[in-house]
Amino acid sequence: MSSTADTIVATATPPGRGGIGIVRLSGPDTARIAECIIGRLPAARFAERAQFRGAEGELLDEGLALYFPGPNSYTGEAVLELHCHGGPWITEALVARALSLGARRAQPGEFTQRAYLNDKLDLAQAEAVADLIDARSDAAARAALRSLQGEFSERVRALDEALAQLRAHVEATIDFPTDEIDFLAEDKLAGRLAAVGAQCAALQATARQGRLLTEGLTVVIAGAPNAGKSTLLNRLAGHEAAIVSETPGTTRDLLREQLQIGGVPLLLLDTAGLRESVDAIESEGVRRARAAIAQADHVLFLVDAATDPKAQSFDAERARLPAQVPVTLIYNKQDLLPKLSAGARTIAGVGSLAISALTGEGLDELKAHLLDAAGYRQEDSGTLSARRRHLEALSAAAARLEAAEIQCRKEGAAELVAEELRNAQRALGEITGAGTADELLGRIFASFCIGK
Ligand code: GDP
Repeated sequence: MSSTADTIVATATPPGRGGIGIVRLSGPDTARIAECIIGRLPAARFAERAQFRGAEGELLDEGLALYFPGPNSYTGEAVLELHCHGGPWITEALVARALSLGARRAQPGEFTQRAYLNDKLDLAQAEAVADLIDARSDAAARAALRSLQGEFSERVRALDEALAQLRAHVEATIDFPTDEIDFLAEDKLAGRLAAVGAQCAALQATARQGRLLTEGLTVVIAGAPNAGKSTLLNRLAGHEAAIVSETPGTTRDLLREQLQIGGVPLLLLDTAGLRESVDAIESEGVRRARAAIAQADHVLFLVDAATDPKAQSFDAERARLPAQVPVTLIYNKQDLLPKLSAGARTIAGVGSLAISALTGEGLDELKAHLLDAAGYRQEDSGTLSARRRHLEALSAAAARLEAAEIQCRKEGAAELVAEELRNAQRALGEITGAGTADELLGRIFASFCIGK
């Protein structure tokens, strides 16, 4: 991890032209650099009009300067913001001036990383900053804001506190074995373990919702050529993203469309029709389609209900679909049939829906079905943003809690119960950053944008 002994600089506004551009500095040399560029140190936390000057005293631009002495700043260090005209040349000229005065160009996310290192934010909150910036829907932005305000961290800490108290009790029976209470034999411990387990499960459910809002769902449209995959993609996207043709094999590569359903970002992939082909390009398309299916959150397997009412094209493909990815069978082209045909053939373990990609019939049900299958509850107003990494940490904690319960039921050694509780706490610590490895921290902050 980089040291905070140096002063960093970056343009905080997006690249390109804009009304204003903001160049931000943070670190111990900030005040000296401010004096060199502006000729004085601006009063703390007041927007002051200032002239920004180059090494020869030449005017670079005129704008506002804001100085935040540490520790009351975003990073916890001395921070300077120079608000200049929003052209890439002028912001870069100010960055170059700061570099010539000893600052270093900031890495992506380095301002937020410093805020984390200076205890201004915990790790889950720092991630929420990036999630708020990247939010692709209103619901995602609100969830990220709640996590940024510390609601998610607060619930993680409450769970950690419950675990700590339980552990203290168990450890007391280890330290004072002659006491009359055999704590482990008591139903009370099992009851308390179950209560903490329920608290953990509730947090997992919230985090699962949050992850959907933050990271979205990847849905692959698969099926035989001509089933109507491109037509469905265009319908859901609301524009002509894919070429629709009666000629089978038209879509040869993956087509990607970003959309949202009820606030959940959806990455929709249209794939080359799954069939054996002698055409090298089409075969490569089929290979990519299979790779995308393996990584998807959900597969919509389209069949042409008019020509393949028994979904035989699905039978041919089923064994090659990865078992862990949920699949829904979509009987398309209902407009060509006298009545709805979904369920004409039900297949165990596979849901089915009837639609017409051409007329739009059944698409609302299809959207609701996708959210439902992902476990998303739209009415939930308290959703917090969360990431896959948080879910993994919560699952690890839940597994340790379960192991503790098993030890307890077996009336196993108190040491073993305590050890499992300690492991559960360690897993939780990864969410807020307690005991997080530097390498993981580096990876998290590297995914931020520059200047944040
Ligand atoms: P893909 O090869 O699976 O991507 O299939 P396309 O989307 O290119 O569609 C193949 C043909 O089926 C085109 O002529 C479409 O207009 C037609 N098609 C797709 N969906 C429907 C539908 O719901 N009803 C009808 N009648 N035709 C459809």
